[in-house]
Amino acid sequence: MKKYFLSLFIFGICYLTFANPVSAAIGPKFGYKMTWNIENVYYYIDQSAPGYSGTIAAAAKNWVYTGCGYNKLYPNTSTTNKTNSAIDIFAASEGRNGMLAGTLMFKRVNGNATLLNPNYSAPTDNWLFAEIHINNDVFQNYSFEVRQGTMAHEFGHAFGLAHNQIANSIMGQVDVRKVQTVQQIDNDTFNSIY
Ligand SMILES: [Zn+2]
Repeated sequence: MKKYFLSLFIFGICYLTFANPVSAAIGPKFGYKMTWNIENVYYYIDQSAPGYSGTIAAAAKNWVYTGCGYNKLYPNTSTTNKTNSAIDIFAASEGRNGMLAGTLMFKRVNGNATLLNPNYSAPTDNWLFAEIHINNDVFQNYSFEVRQGTMAHEFGHAFGLAHNQIANSIMGQVDVRKVQTVQQIDNDTFNSIY
């Protein structure tokens, strides 16, 4: 409820900022989505990634309060109970051709987690939960802003948003995008999925 009223206030600002609220632009999507209740999302930080908790928290909160209208996502805060977590976050030195981070999606079949997108390819079915893997080799060389933007970008993948070539979208890759926060097109794309 609290989120609803805050969003009304923020939407008022966005409405004045973006002159054309009628035609919402929708970005590319995977065509599948997270089946976890989007109004009860928590993330879990693995012991490999505690140093990034501030960065992760900023990106997670950004997706809840985008400043660009309401979305259903809530609360998207951390939990220490992994079984309550829709998104698990790890960090490791992975090399991987300069990639900052990647997102893996899993569904549960007969109680077993089944990976839907090997090598960070596009998922082939709806997923119950996601894992975000930070590549320390590259990630640690960037500023707080770019790290936050990268985490917001990976959260976007976890929710079903695919890459685009739009500078003013969090779903542009790091060499394309000029923003490090969730934009109008990203919030509208999220709302078109959930
Ligand atoms: Zn990406």
